[in-house]
Amino acid sequence: MPTAKTQIPAPPFFLSREKVVEFINPYLKNKGVYLDIAKAFGSPLYVLETDVLARKAEQFRAAFSHRLPETAFFYAMKSNNLPHLSGHLLKHGFGLDVSSGVELSVALELGASSIIFSGPGKTIQELALAAQHPDRVLILLDSIGEAKRLTSVLEKKQTRMPVGLRLNNNPEGLWRKFGVLPEHLLSAFKEIETLGRLDFQGLQFHSSWNLNPDRQTAFIKKLGEILSSMPKQFLDAVKFIDIGGGYWPAQGEWLLSNMPQNYIIDPGVSIDLFAKELSSAIKAHILPLTQCRICFEPGRWICNDAMHILIQVVDCKEKDLVITDAGGNTVGWERYETDYCPVLNLTRPSLSEKKCHILGSLCTPHDVWGYGYFGSGIKENDILMIPAQGAYTYSLRQQFIKPIPRVAVKESSNRYFLLPE
Ligand SMILES: *Cc1c(COP(=O)(O)O)cnc(C)c1O
Repeated sequence: MPTAKTQIPAPPFFLSREKVVEFINPYLKNKGVYLDIAKAFGSPLYVLETDVLARKAEQFRAAFSHRLPETAFFYAMKSNNLPHLSGHLLKHGFGLDVSSGVELSVALELGASSIIFSGPGKTIQELALAAQHPDRVLILLDSIGEAKRLTSVLEKKQTRMPVGLRLNNNPEGLWRKFGVLPEHLLSAFKEIETLGRLDFQGLQFHSSWNLNPDRQTAFIKKLGEILSSMPKQFLDAVKFIDIGGGYWPAQGEWLLSNMPQNYIIDPGVSIDLFAKELSSAIKAHILPLTQCRICFEPGRWICNDAMHILIQVVDCKEKDLVITDAGGNTVGWERYETDYCPVLNLTRPSLSEKKCHILGSLCTPHDVWGYGYFGSGIKENDILMIPAQGAYTYSLRQQFIKPIPRVAVKESSNRYFLLPE
C-alpha cells in the first residue's frame, strides 16, 4: 500500500464567491439607510456605525473575560483615532491605549479614567503630560533610558507614577525597536526599583497582524519560562500582564492577485478561537506563577467593521473606467492597489461583480478604490460603498489635493447625524 501523505494545500488560497457574498449581503440589505445618509449629508463620507462598534467591543470582552479570572481591555486609539469612536468605547467599559502625547490629550479630554501609554521614544513633554495624571495613566516603559527620563520629570514634580515594562518579542529586523529584551528584564526591574519614583506593576508585549493565535501563544510560553527564572520579589510586584493587540478580523486578509477578479485570502480565525487558545496558554504558563490581571489592546479587530466609506461616481469615462468624488487621501495610502475590498454600487445593487476601474479624483494614477464593483451597471451620481474600512484608514487620512470627508454617525437604522468638524 502506498503511504498516505497528508496533502496540505499550498498557499495562496483563493477567496470564494460565497465568502464575498456572505460579507457584502448585510450591507446590501441595509442599502436604504446608507443611501439616505449620503442623500442627507452629501458625498464623500465616512460612516461610523456605533451599534456595530458596541457589538464588537462586547464580543471581544466576552470571549476573554469568560475564560480568565481577571481581565482589562484597552482600545488602541491609533487604529482609528476618531475621538467619537474612542468616547463610545469608554461607555462600554474599555480603557484607552495611546501611543503619543496627541492621543493622550484626546483620551484625557474624553474623560478616560484608565489609560495606558505605550510606544518608543516618548518625549519629555509627553512624559510630563502623563505625569500630571498618575491616577489615570500608566506608562508602559520602552527602555531604561525612558525610565530615567520619566524619573527626572517626576523628581521635579515630587510625584510617583505607575509603570509597566514592554518586553521585546521579536528581536529580528525592524521590530527590534520596541521594548526591552527578555534577557535584560531582571536588571531593568532592579533599575526601576532603584530609581525610586516608579511603581512597577507589570509587563506588556505586542505583535501585530495575527491571523491566528500561534505567534502569541508561542511568546506566552516563552514568557512563562522567563517568569519562572525571576525572583519572588519580581513576581509579587507583577499586577498585570498585557498581551497587546494585533487580532485580525475573522474574514481574513483579502488581497488582489495578478488574475482579475481572482482574490487571495489569508484565512483568519474567530475571536473565540483566539480567546480559547490564548487563555489556555495563559492558564498553563503565566497564572501558576503570578495571579495577575490579563490586559488586552485590540485596535483593528474592534474598529474595522464599524466604519465604511461612501463615495459617488462623478465621471463615467468608459464602460470599465469611472472617476469618483473621493481620492486615496481619504485612507492615506495606496491600500487598494494591493488589498481587496468589494466596492458596492448601492444605487444599482447586484451580487455579481463587474470588471471596472473604480478610481479617485486625485491628480495621480495611484488613486484606486477597486478593479471591479458589485452592481447591475454604473452611472454618474451612483453611490458606492466600500464597507468595513475602519482600521488604519481614517487615522491615516490626509489633506492631499482634495479635502477630507466628513463623518456621519449611524446609531441605529433610523437615527444618524453628521459629526461637527
Ligand atoms: C498598534 C498597537 C496595537 C493595536 O494593534 P491592532 O493590530 O490594531 O490590534 C496594540 N498595542 C500596541 C502597543 C500597538 O502599537
